Amino acid sequence: ATDLKNQTPIKQPIQAPELSWNEAGLPIADAFDDPYFSVENGLEETRYVFLKNNQLPERFKVGSGPFRIIETGFGTGLNFLATWQAFNQEATSERWLHFTSVEKYPLTKEQLAKALALWPELSDFSHKLIERYPPATPGFHVLSWPEERVTLTLIFADVHDAFPELNGPVDAWYLDGFAPSKNPAMWSDELFKEIRRISRNPSPHRIPSVATFTAAGLVRRGLKGAGFHMAKVPGFGRKREMLAGTYQATTGPEKNAQHNRLPWQLMPAPLHYGSHVVIAGAGLAGCTTARALAERGFKVTLCDPEGIASGASGNPQGGLYIKLAADDQATHSDFYRQAYLLALKEVRRILGDPAKDDTKAKYWDECGVLQLAYDEKETKRQQRFIERHQPTAELVKSIRQESREGLLYPAAGWVSPVDFCRALIQHPRIQFNKTAVIGFSGEQNNMTLETADGAIHADALIIATAHQVKELAGENTHLPIKKIRGQLSYLDATSLPDLTQVLCARSYMAPPINGCLVLGATYNLKDDDPELRDSDHQTNLSHLTDFGHEWEKAAGTADIIGGRVAFRCTTPDYLPMAGPLVQKQAFIEVFQPMTKNAKRIPREPMPWLSGVWLNIGHGSRGLVSTSLCAELIAEQMIGDAVCSSQTVTDALSPNRFLLRDLIRNKL
Ligand code: SAM
Repeated sequence: ATDLKNQTPIKQPIQAPELSWNEAGLPIADAFDDPYFSVENGLEETRYVFLKNNQLPERFKVGSGPFRIIETGFGTGLNFLATWQAFNQEATSERWLHFTSVEKYPLTKEQLAKALALWPELSDFSHKLIERYPPATPGFHVLSWPEERVTLTLIFADVHDAFPELNGPVDAWYLDGFAPSKNPAMWSDELFKEIRRISRNPSPHRIPSVATFTAAGLVRRGLKGAGFHMAKVPGFGRKREMLAGTYQATTGPEKNAQHNRLPWQLMPAPLHYGSHVVIAGAGLAGCTTARALAERGFKVTLCDPEGIASGASGNPQGGLYIKLAADDQATHSDFYRQAYLLALKEVRRILGDPAKDDTKAKYWDECGVLQLAYDEKETKRQQRFIERHQPTAELVKSIRQESREGLLYPAAGWVSPVDFCRALIQHPRIQFNKTAVIGFSGEQNNMTLETADGAIHADALIIATAHQVKELAGENTHLPIKKIRGQLSYLDATSLPDLTQVLCARSYMAPPINGCLVLGATYNLKDDDPELRDSDHQTNLSHLTDFGHEWEKAAGTADIIGGRVAFRCTTPDYLPMAGPLVQKQAFIEVFQPMTKNAKRIPREPMPWLSGVWLNIGHGSRGLVSTSLCAELIAEQMIGDAVCSSQTVTDALSPNRFLLRDLIRNKL
């Protein structure tokens, strides 16, 4: 895990199952010759086997903070939906349900809808699930319903690839996944080893329980070996017995085993429900984080002396799309693909359905994004990408129009980032202060933030000020970020060809609003010039020739009616920085042995810069990347980082360059 190279945990292409439907309309998996749930009464079976035998919903009625369930085999989602219904009816208002489920053969949306039509009493919940059900792309998908305090992390992968990417705490296990006799590959020694690792838990308040429909000896022995006290209890319906148990190894050596996690993977202590967090910077990073925290019960003070979305997030239109790498950039692709799918849902949730919005001032549109194969290199790259990844057409497909060819992301589009930011912070627990945070002191849960207008007391600080981070985070940090100038050109659209999609090549452009077409942006390193430059307008115009014959003429004749200069903040590996920040000097002292041998990792706690978190480095992709980073930080703050794989979480750590450069003796 100290290896910071790109790697992916999840390799299998995604395959939907072949299903048969019996006379009663129940789905049977052909490959396993096994039904998805009891032929007697699937819903009652779920309530008995998985809920009652994990003492649910009783455990939802007490306590606060996240309640985490991990399931093997999402199948039709029946277990999830029955749990959501019980949570909805019984949980205290300070609880949040985190349901993580792994599925190797995800049903298609149509199969899912057909199977769930069997349960009219769950229809309120199943409609929400079907609406958000992700396309068949591998890896982690976050589906969040903040108004219900429910997050589903659905992982499309084999459990053997997914579980090594998960960590505790876990409160309850649902071991589903076809009978061991029919699916022996899943019920392996490795599975139980992972259950053991994930169940080890330093928190005495979160002791995992487990329930499974099977009474098979190998499962009972496996779970005993994983540290559970197991009992056979009566099974549901005609099944004689099933297994239930509670994790026991909370004392002795197990207690301190720390999940086998590396020091930088163990997060600072969680904040309490209702804590007060100050966020510096009201661009996309600050506003998405403010919203994610407010929805989890935090009180947020968002500070920015320039107002909402004044920096790179203040461009009138931004493309909401990703450019997935063809080769060996697995962690990048995993992050950006997951972030993109989440961002699309978030924009829709916050700004509404653009098809239903008949006001002239549209804030976003899912008009599709076409990435043009504008030269030979890009054409080859796109071909390699399709051949290697065989992505589902719902995500991206190769197309050829009259004068154009390229990759079409049909669900992508453009967003007005300013309007998105303004809408994000419309929440009763978010207060905006037009002021600068200029210093901080104290520790998490007792911090004083100095602002241009006086002191604020808070429990934590999140710095979301892009390249201005160093002014606030101070000397004792190692943040090798770059500031990159970008200039947009605004063109009079009346004399230009029609544009109904976002097009991107060397530049991008979106369908015009109010007669103005936004084209850009330039990429100028080591350039602090805040003024518009004619030479940059000419660069943007020259890129119009990439967009097909009809645009070639426009390159010479288009009228420039304005423009905008903004500065993006990027990192050396083009991934953002999201997470808690460490003190540089103390880190170097503690981890000094790694300068001689990177494998000699001291098992010491991280010297956190107590109470300080970072969400920066989004470059020109903030519309895509900020929503997932905001979720991640909010989850880390409440003590459950569940929305992304450990590999992706490590790759986003604000401390990764400090660790890398320490190992390379470059500090
Ligand atoms: N919990 C489901 C529900 O509520 O509908 C029913 C689960 S069904 C009995 C078992 C599921 O486990 C199937 O969807 C199957 O594809 C999945 N599965 C089987 N082997 C797996 C593996 N190795 N990794 C992940 N999922 C697996």
